[in-house]
Amino acid sequence: MNILILPGDGIGKEVTAQAARILKAVLGSEATYEEAPIGGEGVKAAGTPLPPATLALAQKADAILFGAVGLPGDELGPRDKRPGLGLLTLRRELKLYANFRPAILYPELVDASSLKPELVRDLDLMVLRELNGDIYYGTPRGISVENGVRVGINTMRYSEPEIERIAHVGFKAARGRGRKLCSVDKANVLETMVLWRETVQRIAKEYPDVEFRNLYVDAASMELLRAPKQFDLILAPNMFGDILSDAAAMLTGSIGMLPSASIGEGNKGLYEPVHGSAPDIAGKDIANPLAAILSAAMLLRHSFGREEDAARIERAVRSVLASGLRTADIAGAGREKVGTAAMGGAVLAALR
Ligand code: NAD
Repeated sequence: MNILILPGDGIGKEVTAQAARILKAVLGSEATYEEAPIGGEGVKAAGTPLPPATLALAQKADAILFGAVGLPGDELGPRDKRPGLGLLTLRRELKLYANFRPAILYPELVDASSLKPELVRDLDLMVLRELNGDIYYGTPRGISVENGVRVGINTMRYSEPEIERIAHVGFKAARGRGRKLCSVDKANVLETMVLWRETVQRIAKEYPDVEFRNLYVDAASMELLRAPKQFDLILAPNMFGDILSDAAAMLTGSIGMLPSASIGEGNKGLYEPVHGSAPDIAGKDIANPLAAILSAAMLLRHSFGREEDAARIERAVRSVLASGLRTADIAGAGREKVGTAAMGGAVLAALR
């Protein structure tokens, strides 16, 4: 088992350090590990957010544990030096097109949710986000000058096979859960989304045992915040999935609680917390490492079929939460807070 660790920028480094401690404790000498720069660290090391040496290591790794990329104000710099491009290019190069984002509310964190306990208790929702297409990759794109006026252009683009591919992943995953799939689009306004809706509806007929419906993204975001437990699996194009899963994160108490798995055709996957590099709290040892640690559990489950080890980590996280330990983001008022490394250490100690 060859695992590549890509800490990236900001709190990415702090939280992956904790997740790597857990992985190493669970796998011992069964796995080998390499580490490489990406994002702002890639630019610093090799002048590009995805250095060729990092990509080569990613191509040969069996699984990748990723932190986060992004530096303050980076959106204002040249596009080819933007940290986020490192991750976008990596996902595309490795053809990791299916991004699973489970939003699970641990009973211990019911009070940390942004919604009332009765609306979110026992929430177990999966957002499946398409990851290789949409407006994030479509061309033409850019900022140009037309008739003396600056104009920004991006292109929302999906081919039918790309939609079919993610729809099959979604319906199969729904079969392994609550057999309910809601596809999200904006077919009332956008042609790309008409194609999305028509295609997903057609594929749905192959899965008659899965309860299926469509929602426009505006209605879906409203329903997610009104009555989140009506959903089991939400299938979404790249951009809407990005946004809806961040909203779902707040239902689980904090964005610091949400892991993710990005997978393609084989067993290789990239596992990362849903959150970003959080420059506002970077370097302070206060970030919540649990999303990264739970991402390590997803790595063991999806890439290596180590269900028991994944469950061990998830049990350890629950027992740490049950013991009352909290990082600042999930502490609420009047509770003592622990730092990133202490939280990681507690999960390590709770592994059994
Ligand atoms: P963010 O997720 O980094 O932070 C949003 C808020 O959540 C901040 O207040 C932050 O302090 C808090 N937060 C995030 N993770 C936390 C954790 N583990 N524990 C406690 N609090 C946490 O999003 P942002 O501020 O919009 O973006 C910051 C940078 O990260 C930008 O450069 C952005 O492009 C990048 N980003 C990267 C990824 C990625 O690498 N996958 C994802 C999203 C954003």
